[in-house]
Amino acid sequence: NVPVITVDGPGGAGKGTLCRGLARALGWHYLDSGALYRLLGLRAHQLGVPAEQAAALARELDVSFPVESNEVYLAGEPVAARIRTEEVGDMASKVAVRDDVRQALLARQRDFARAPGLIADGRDMGTVVFADAPLKVFLDASAEVRARRREKELLDAGKSAIFEKIFREICERDRRDRERSVAPLRPAQDAQVLDSSGLNAAEVLDTVMQWARQ
Ligand code: C5P
Repeated sequence: NVPVITVDGPGGAGKGTLCRGLARALGWHYLDSGALYRLLGLRAHQLGVPAEQAAALARELDVSFPVESNEVYLAGEPVAARIRTEEVGDMASKVAVRDDVRQALLARQRDFARAPGLIADGRDMGTVVFADAPLKVFLDASAEVRARRREKELLDAGKSAIFEKIFREICERDRRDRERSVAPLRPAQDAQVLDSSGLNAAEVLDTVMQWARQ
């Protein structure tokens, strides 16, 4: 059995940064399950396929996440910049409410669990996909803090950012993820909850590395 550490939580809590840091420190593989849903949401939108056909698309995605960079590859093409927008996040959360889509992605996600270990990043890693994982982290942060971080990211990238709009979009996606009937966002019963609102990335990584060593 390959060891798995699951990291779930709302968008913008810092899961990606934490997970890549853990994967590098431990030399383990990384699954960015949100990127799977984002790619799927984007493909469905581009092809104009109805939500009922999104599950069939899910079976075809050829995706990889090297830990050395923040890149995501779809059939060998770098696509991170295209999928990491609020707009695509929104498309993702719309296909993600479908049970058939989630079922279609289940086996694909479990395939990422290869030796020496896997860091699994998402919304339902600890509750559904890797329910047996020995260490489950639920990384949270207030909506306000998450919106500020997103605003800074956009400004640092030379893009425009309107705080009120970002805040509204984050709250809307949270609501959709928390209130959906299939695999709603919530901490697993045996998850360690960490609020990153007042912590920097290094402090979050240190905390979880200590849990991993126990
Ligand atoms: O984590 P990220 O913001 O990239 O996820 C985008 C969207 O994909 C989420 O808002 C959620 O609706 C969906 N998602 C999911 N289950 C996962 C990962 C992401 O439903 N394991």
